[in-house]
Amino acid sequence: MSYVKKIDPELYDAILKETEREAYTLELIPSENIVSEAVLEAQGGVMTNKYAEGYPGKRYYGGCDYVDVAEKLAQERAKQLFGCEHVNVQPHCGTSANLAVYLTVLNIGDTIMGMDLSCGGHLSHGHPLNFSGKFYKIVPYGVTTDTETIDYDQMRKLALEHKPKIIVTGASAYSRTIDFKRVKEIADEVGAYHMADIAHIAGLVAASLHPSPVPYADFVTTTTHKTLRGPRGGMVMCKEKFAKDLDRIVFPGIQGGPLMHVIAAKAVAFKEALGDGFKTYQKQIVANAQELAKALQNEGFRIVSGGTDNHLMLVDLRSKKTTGKIGQEALDKAGITVNKNTIPYDPEKPFIASGIRVGTPSITSRGMKEKEMTQIAKWINQALFAHDNDAVLAKIKADVKQLCLKFPIYGERLGDR
Ligand SMILES: *Cc1c(COP(=O)(O)O)cnc(C)c1O
Repeated sequence: MSYVKKIDPELYDAILKETEREAYTLELIPSENIVSEAVLEAQGGVMTNKYAEGYPGKRYYGGCDYVDVAEKLAQERAKQLFGCEHVNVQPHCGTSANLAVYLTVLNIGDTIMGMDLSCGGHLSHGHPLNFSGKFYKIVPYGVTTDTETIDYDQMRKLALEHKPKIIVTGASAYSRTIDFKRVKEIADEVGAYHMADIAHIAGLVAASLHPSPVPYADFVTTTTHKTLRGPRGGMVMCKEKFAKDLDRIVFPGIQGGPLMHVIAAKAVAFKEALGDGFKTYQKQIVANAQELAKALQNEGFRIVSGGTDNHLMLVDLRSKKTTGKIGQEALDKAGITVNKNTIPYDPEKPFIASGIRVGTPSITSRGMKEKEMTQIAKWINQALFAHDNDAVLAKIKADVKQLCLKFPIYGERLGDR
């Protein structure tokens, strides 16, 4: 960072503080992760300089030989990783990956069936303030009140009634296995497309720890920065018959020049995901999440749906007489980062929320295992109990830092300073 330090001390200071924040706190936001040094290098490299509108071999700019190599590597590795027929690695984020699919198969005003945001769905699956809710008619499906798992019977009933043009599966706050095959049957019955958005669980799918939607969905979208542990970005996979239309929608439809440095970093991340250690890593994410859920239950918390099959869980704070908002703020002071989240059929407004969303991808990336989960659950309980006691929260924060020091993120990088 010597150049940033010299040219822009203000920004340098912010980067330094963010580096320390990441190093000395527990990141439990399930949509976040810690990329490798190789991913950082690729993303921080010279490919940011290059314009490359178009696709490998068919660009609208000269000088694309080497960025073509990067994009082709990303494409080939993504296909190998997920077994899809076609892939577009250019979407700048998960939301624009979803936009690309909608524009490929829908007309404005068509009906989308997606998971209710309050039950765990994503903004881009039909929130009124998101383009998806503005351009399309939305029919949300939810979870049952008793098991808090996806209500496939309700989904089928609503699909038969509203005849959506596309059914969207995938979620941002859902801890159970999704039955993509069942949704494909419902979609076929009503003549709808099926788009599976695996933004959160892509790493688990790549490691065969969650059933793949690729055989059962016309389109599979994802982010590359969550469990997949790549750079911040998006990607769309689809059947060959949609390939041309999809590519035309991504460019020139909704994007200009692709972020070639990010695509280069995607290629690196996919290579890492194809490597030996990745499956072990993903298995540990799930083992840690299940251990953390159990430990939190032992501390008297209710876990939505009773546990987790994946990398995250929703923790209901009502038994502790507190809210997601208060919980998130207290945990922040204790060096534990989470986000407040509504629980299904939450009596509180989203800005307050009755729960927090907790996940293990980041802490697993820094090497933490089951033993640490028990300790983290204890700290969460103590911090919530002492949510208005800054001295207790500061003490937990100091203890958290000690644990973090044993699991460095970028050891040498920090040690160098
Ligand atoms: C995170 C997420 C996205 C969007 O990702 P961005 O890159 O933030 O746009 C889309 N869908 C689901 C289900 C997600 O969880």
